[in-house]
Amino acid sequence: MQRFFSTITKNPGRLFQQTVIVTGSGSGIGRALALGFAKEGANVGVTGRTIKALDETVEMIKKQGGNAMSAFMDVTNEKSIKEAVDKVTDKYNDRLDVMVMNAGIQHIDPIHKLDQKDWRKVLSVHLDGSFLCTKEAVKKMYPQKSGSLIYIGSVHSKRASKLKAPYCSAKHGMLGLARVVAKEAAEYNVKANLILPGYVFTPLVEKQIPEQAKELGISEKEVIEKVMLQDRFNSSFISLNDLSEIAIFFATFPSLAISGQSLIASHGSFFV
Ligand code: NAD
Repeated sequence: MQRFFSTITKNPGRLFQQTVIVTGSGSGIGRALALGFAKEGANVGVTGRTIKALDETVEMIKKQGGNAMSAFMDVTNEKSIKEAVDKVTDKYNDRLDVMVMNAGIQHIDPIHKLDQKDWRKVLSVHLDGSFLCTKEAVKKMYPQKSGSLIYIGSVHSKRASKLKAPYCSAKHGMLGLARVVAKEAAEYNVKANLILPGYVFTPLVEKQIPEQAKELGISEKEVIEKVMLQDRFNSSFISLNDLSEIAIFFATFPSLAISGQSLIASHGSFFV
């Protein structure tokens, strides 16, 4: 009833009172999505490994008048995921409407220098993490017969780049995972979609500029211009606002017509 009244008395936002969890939301894309969801009225679970960074995101959301709480979550650890999901859903209406698998890391090395431990680390965060978070999220979504799972893949879910074997493999894997989940989850009215961004200027990208420059033997400026922003309509990084709008679109799309889909945001640098 409260939901009904709110919709007619003021603009409640497209995600009014929905519970949303974003992994790795103490920085970069995750933080931007958390802020965007909160602006649309969602109660946001800001999760990740660094409490100070998570609390900063929560503070930013509260300053803009939204609702959010932080919860520690290491996406490679099943117990920690369960505890965080329970903590957030206990506080917010015992439901989970949207879960965003965003946490990620990068590792730059050519195959012949790549340690198996670095390979495993990247796969563990992106791929094991997406699997484990999905498993926990659907335990809440299936009984409520609704929900939206959003995976932050990458253009590297569909293309390859030198020096990024673990990342490309993990991101391709997330595409396969989300497609399987879409098929299984449809029966419960739960959607699974991916956002595949090109380069977005976040800490993850900033860190790899000098690393790529060193490995490729070019300047940092050349890494930005010739590797990262090559072939774009307008030589710019993807904006956090664009990604937030795409995430809200997937979160609010009203039917299963769009599930198992992947949307590339790349300023034209990559089509399929
Ligand atoms: P970022 O480094 O700002 O954010 C990644 C977040 O994940 C960090 O907050 C980090 O603490 C968190 N994280 C890492 N390991 C974790 C773990 N085990 N458990 C929980 N949290 C963990 O980088 P970003 O660019 O915002 O990246 C977010 C996502 O977007 C990643 O999945 C990345 O692969 C993807 N992506 C980024 C770009 C880009 O250009 N920045 C492009 C395509 C896809």
